[in-house]
Amino acid sequence: MTDVQAETKQFQAETRRVLDIVINSLYTERDIFVRELVSNAADALEKFRHQNLVEKVDFDAHVPLEINIDCDDTKHTLTITDTGIGMTREELETNLGTIAHSGSGKYFEELAEAVKKDVNLIGQFGVGFYSAFMAATKVTVQTRSYDGSEGHEWVSDGNGSYTISPCPGLHRGTKIIMELKEDAHTYGQKFTIERIIEQYSTFVPFPIKVEGKTVNTVQAIWTRSKNEITEEEYNEFYKFVGNAGDEPMYRLHFSADAPLAINALVYVPKENFEMFGMGRMDPGVNLYCQKVLIDQHSENILPEWLRFMKGVVDSEDLPLNISRQSLQDNALVMKLRKVLTKRFIKFLNEEAIRDEEKYQQFWKTFGIFIKEGVTSDFEYRKDLGKLLRFESSASEPGEMISLDKYLGRMKDGQEKIYFINGTSRSAVEASPYVEMFKKRGIEIFYTLEPIDDFVLNHLGEYEEKKLVSADAADISLPENAQESADDKEAETVDALPKDQVTALCSWIKERLAGKVQDVKVSTRLVDSPAMIVNVDGYMTSSMERVMQASGQDNPLSMGSKKDLEINASSPLIKKLAQLRESDTDFAGEVVEQVYTNALIQAGLMVDPMELVSRNYRILERAVGTNE
Ligand code: ADP
Ligand code: MG
Repeated sequence: MTDVQAETKQFQAETRRVLDIVINSLYTERDIFVRELVSNAADALEKFRHQNLVEKVDFDAHVPLEINIDCDDTKHTLTITDTGIGMTREELETNLGTIAHSGSGKYFEELAEAVKKDVNLIGQFGVGFYSAFMAATKVTVQTRSYDGSEGHEWVSDGNGSYTISPCPGLHRGTKIIMELKEDAHTYGQKFTIERIIEQYSTFVPFPIKVEGKTVNTVQAIWTRSKNEITEEEYNEFYKFVGNAGDEPMYRLHFSADAPLAINALVYVPKENFEMFGMGRMDPGVNLYCQKVLIDQHSENILPEWLRFMKGVVDSEDLPLNISRQSLQDNALVMKLRKVLTKRFIKFLNEEAIRDEEKYQQFWKTFGIFIKEGVTSDFEYRKDLGKLLRFESSASEPGEMISLDKYLGRMKDGQEKIYFINGTSRSAVEASPYVEMFKKRGIEIFYTLEPIDDFVLNHLGEYEEKKLVSADAADISLPENAQESADDKEAETVDALPKDQVTALCSWIKERLAGKVQDVKVSTRLVDSPAMIVNVDGYMTSSMERVMQASGQDNPLSMGSKKDLEINASSPLIKKLAQLRESDTDFAGEVVEQVYTNALIQAGLMVDPMELVSRNYRILERAVGTNE
């Protein structure tokens, strides 16, 4: 009491404001003060460890690096002790009496806003220490610097002032003693503390002992070298970060020094929970900086379409006191994100080469996210093309192949990559669109999900080969060498003469006025009499179908232009040319029906009642009712 060196000091005005904000904040997430103090302790240990590496420290060299937590449920105190770098008297005053990063008044507005919303954010404002006053009426800090200088004690009740006095007999490090508020007595209980440590600080890379017993058995394994980590440890860690009960599908553990220092350990789970109708997932990767959690379930560290991933990314290059808000447009974070995303895409490509069967499993479960990436993320669109898989005319049913594989077996003279959408493999194979592909032996992708055409349209091209939907107009397929000249001659001889076809086309066009833009002779129909093709090239029938199904009268769909292509070798079309002369009305009915059938084959909506009554009229004629 009579110590001449004891001094009472006022907190800097800014500190008082921070204390006000903290003390008056909602206590819904009060637990976080434990994390803040533990992360400060971990920081102090990290700093010591580093210092000791730079220049061997003699003072108290034998004291092990650890954090001790003691609870006293009768005195209602909580004590957190670390053997870290400690503080000199000067440092005590600046670190716990002033606010370092409070340049502008905006800082306080932001802090007050953030804390109101989520007390969790306090640490990111570089004022985590003061959160102790959420739970304590009085905080005592006893500390001694690693340099061996005299130890000191700092005491405050958070009300404007603090006292500092010398404190002899301390070891290196810092002890924080909290006298708990009446409504915060739970923090004087061991199980409360253990629960909080488990929740927030398990991966602090120093032993955390509660009442002498180490509680954080799991270490910051992402910083350890790969060959020291067992499969079991990897899986345990996955269960922890992924909140999972099973084992992961993939694991990527990598470190880099340039262009950024990164330690990342990320996993792909076995299940896609969005597929189970559980709604949109939160991101699952946590951002650490020097092993201290900065941003749990970070929205910033990976693009949105990688939200299914779980794990940890740690970068020493990030400033420890970075605020969660500023992560969003932090240049370092953006760079980090790019490096990680590229690395992960590369990883998936390697995995696909290493074990294609397993990759197919991944694709079935998570392919939808990759497709989302292609449609939503211009930055990685090109790279993601490699990861896409679809069935094709040359693949076994259910087997998906890559664009690379397709490229590798393209026909001589084939300039484009073709695809056609349908609801099932059998539906696609029965459609008129694949007839010429089959005949000429040209491989075509079967895109069986409605989103696929959007994906391939966004991709646009792959390895400089255009991606084209087979229901587009003016497709000319490379000729087949095996297709004999005889064959072709037979076709032309067999077909309707040119002048008759031209006349027929313009007559059909008249009959279908307002429904199709043009009617042309097809160069690629083999058996079917006719088919619908899309003129503008962008809008495929499947995209239009999606829009129709979702009830959108999309301007694109309304304005989308279609042609009808007819098959001049088809017996029906040949007969139609004659019928037009003998019975124009009935020929008109047939044209309507051919058109409707072509719409159905394109997967587009038709008026079913109209179809049925016309169909009956044609049937009546066929059985000869009106003869
Ligand atoms: P931040 O950790 O973001 O810097 P805090 O309010 O949590 O903000 O802590 C303020 C400062 O007090 C720290 O930067 C550090 O210098 C000092 N400090 C806090 N706790 C300790 C500790 N246990 N050991 C050494 N220094 C500490
Ligand atoms: Mg802190």
